[in-house]
Amino acid sequence: MTAQSNIYPTAALQALDAAHHLHPFSDMKSLNAEGSRVITRAEGVWLYDSEGNRIMDGMAGLWCVQVGHGRTEIIEAVSKQMEELAYYNTFFKTTHPPAVALSEKLAKLAAPHINRVFYCSSGSEANDTVFRMARFYWDQMGKPDKKVFIGRWNGYHGSTLAGTSLGGMKAMHGQGDLPVPGVRHINQPYWFGEGGDMSPEEFGIQRARELEQMIDQIGEDKVAAFIAEPIQGAGGVIMPPDSYWPEVRRILKERDILFISDEVICGFGRLGTWFGSDYYGMEPDMMPIAKGLTSGYLPMGGVMVSDRVSDALVNKSGEFYHGYTYSGHPVCAAAALANLEIIEREGLVDRVANDIGPYLKSRWMTLADHPLVGEARMKGLVGALELVPEKGNRNKQFPDTGSVGTICRDQSFKNGLVMRAVRDSMIISPPLVLSHEEADALVDTTHKTLDATHQILKKDGWLV
Ligand SMILES: *Cc1c(COP(=O)(O)O)cnc(C)c1O
Repeated sequence: MTAQSNIYPTAALQALDAAHHLHPFSDMKSLNAEGSRVITRAEGVWLYDSEGNRIMDGMAGLWCVQVGHGRTEIIEAVSKQMEELAYYNTFFKTTHPPAVALSEKLAKLAAPHINRVFYCSSGSEANDTVFRMARFYWDQMGKPDKKVFIGRWNGYHGSTLAGTSLGGMKAMHGQGDLPVPGVRHINQPYWFGEGGDMSPEEFGIQRARELEQMIDQIGEDKVAAFIAEPIQGAGGVIMPPDSYWPEVRRILKERDILFISDEVICGFGRLGTWFGSDYYGMEPDMMPIAKGLTSGYLPMGGVMVSDRVSDALVNKSGEFYHGYTYSGHPVCAAAALANLEIIEREGLVDRVANDIGPYLKSRWMTLADHPLVGEARMKGLVGALELVPEKGNRNKQFPDTGSVGTICRDQSFKNGLVMRAVRDSMIISPPLVLSHEEADALVDTTHKTLDATHQILKKDGWLV
């Protein structure tokens, strides 16, 4: 068969998929028994499957399709670049115009102290780069003992060895003896799930101070960096209490360690600012980027590097033995440039901050009244609903964590909306081009989905 072919019936595609394709993050046994959904095309915020159904892409693919699907500007830019120079490396004293232009562009978009970028092909590779670059930085600074990374439980930094290790997903660590040595984790600022009797503000301060305690316990002279997502995405769209980042900022100011803001989800307008660290007023030393950089049209990632760190890379002699065949890939860079041009031309970052963001939020927050919803939250264009068995009681959860989330996610798909379930919370992160009508449809469908889920839970005895 050929890649474009839609002449095969869905069942035949599913059978071949089950026979030959190993999916990421999937229980292959149950997936193959059920059969994969086959998505055949997409336009704007809409996906179309092999059965002719139209489904709203409430997750922007996988948190990445900022400008929506099917943008001809990106397709044309990529095609033109392929004709001119489809590939050349950036290793041996060479560069090419797309890599130069994209680097200049990114330096302009980032905070004034961030002016350089190292390229790779994904967010995971970006965090592998961070892992090696931060240690190399301290070597260059004559402090080779500063090697330990502090991450957070339930943080997500990708799926490679370094990404998994820096992240705090215990189920991932359990497979293959991770984290690698030299990584420690502190607790996450997840007030709804872990805040107990504390106010969000008290809780935010307490969780921030775990960083201080951890640094002091390990010894500042041994700690290389603290890595965190401004808002945890894959962990369940966890928004820290307002007190959290200012307190972390104070702690970092008093101690000489690097701060790495993983911008793979929060970057490129998701929070109504170019980067999540801009939103929270943090000044990172490094920023892993990917996802929204190309809106997912082609794979590309990178690490944006502050002057502090890049000084040690470019003003001291010594080669950093690190790079990828596809570092700065010209076609991916062309896709990124066209994508960033669309974001700028259509004012999408401002639109998230001042138009569609506040609009969707005002509608989304009405879902907090639903009997299944313990909390609704949204910032920019990323939101979550916490599903609970007993409204008003944060301490009570559904048994068999994740089952109710899965029921709700399946209902949502049936109703024509892709939402993601993390444990028993529902997540959305739609394209930044979402219209007001589409925002209305998103919330109406979610409401309908919550009702359907509620019916199923009542019928099956989940609620007493
Ligand atoms: C998705 C993600 C990654 C990993 O990116 P990949 O491109 O999937 O390797 C890293 N960090 C964060 C915050 C992410 O959301």
